[in-house]
Amino acid sequence: MNVLLTGSAGFVGSHLAEHLLHAGHTVVGVDNYLSGQRSNTEALRAHPRFHFVQADVSLGLHEAHLPPGVDALDWVLHFASPASPPHYQQHPIETLMVGAQGTQYALDLAWRQGARFLLASTSEVYGDPHVHPQPEGYWGHVNPNGVRSCYDEAKRYAEALTMAYHRARGVDTRIIRIFNTYGPRMRADDGRVVTNLIHQALRGEPLTVHGDGQQTRSFQYVTDLVDGVLRLMTVTHHDPVNLGNPDEYSILHFAELVRDLIDPRLPIHFTPAAEDDPRQRRPDIRKAEQLLGWVPRVPLADGLARTILHARHPGAPVLAHTS
Ligand code: NAD
Ligand code: UDP
Repeated sequence: MNVLLTGSAGFVGSHLAEHLLHAGHTVVGVDNYLSGQRSNTEALRAHPRFHFVQADVSLGLHEAHLPPGVDALDWVLHFASPASPPHYQQHPIETLMVGAQGTQYALDLAWRQGARFLLASTSEVYGDPHVHPQPEGYWGHVNPNGVRSCYDEAKRYAEALTMAYHRARGVDTRIIRIFNTYGPRMRADDGRVVTNLIHQALRGEPLTVHGDGQQTRSFQYVTDLVDGVLRLMTVTHHDPVNLGNPDEYSILHFAELVRDLIDPRLPIHFTPAAEDDPRQRRPDIRKAEQLLGWVPRVPLADGLARTILHARHPGAPVLAHTS
């Protein structure tokens, strides 16, 4: 198949591209490096079926972007968007644009091509949730103009637009809501809790925990996410599907786990709570289990060990393709 993937230079996009190539598909990656890494493109370029287009998808996505030999698309996978809170708060307008205009250009391309479309949405559409764990039917509790709104509302709009293209124009759409995902190739300076804590500990610095550390997250290893995406693309289901690992940790407990894997002598340093920081987050994954026969397989300790190994040796190959 011919697959166009926006956000191919990002953390998730690079893993997805690698797995699609491994499965025999041709991948056209599109990225403007707003939050991605050139090293991800360089690694993928070694593959003869990978083509890269440096472009801002908020400004347009057209057939002219397709390389010679790729004259029809089977799938359009829209992963372009900053995802780390420090990144999207530093680029709030670009984040809104890629969720709005970028999603529309990607949907229009899928419509013209008769391609299947997938939107990478997020657990942030649930905001600071009042329902726990979060099932897909929960409408969320989002501050519509707070510091996280550029991301949350962009993704909520992107979901609405995707459903509108499905209902009004018959585009064959999919929506996934991704919960905190981690693994090799996250940017060391990405600012999310996994990378911050690992790199602080590797430098022998105190680990920073925002607030009292009692807020919770559920951490999914990236190959489990890729497995879920590929399964959803092969079934017909247009409503959103949660993809995340339901094992829930307080951030303080998570910091202790990371510290103990790297250097148990390091102190934990409490810093001011982040604004509008969700207090709890855990996916209800019953839909993905029933629809896709999917469950996350990589336990946190194993995924963290692989992520730490890669942070120590960034050039090392990444293990484990999905089957
Ligand atoms: P990332 O920042 O590593 O990757 C995003 C990529 O999109 C980057 O390479 C960036 O340069 C690119 N990009 C951003 N704006 C663009 C634009 N206008 N045009 C072209 N490229 C653009 O983030 P990630 O963690 O890999 O997240 C990928 C997707 O998954 C995002 O849509 C994000 O919202 C979603 N998601 C991720 C997580 C997670 O935990 N990693 C959780 C929920 C949702
Ligand atoms: N966090 C933290 N220390 C850090 C970075 C983040 O305690 O150095 C907290 C953050 O306040 C949040 C949780 O860890 O409660 C997850 O943050 P992250 O930025 O990874 O993603 P989020 O789930 O908030 O989008």
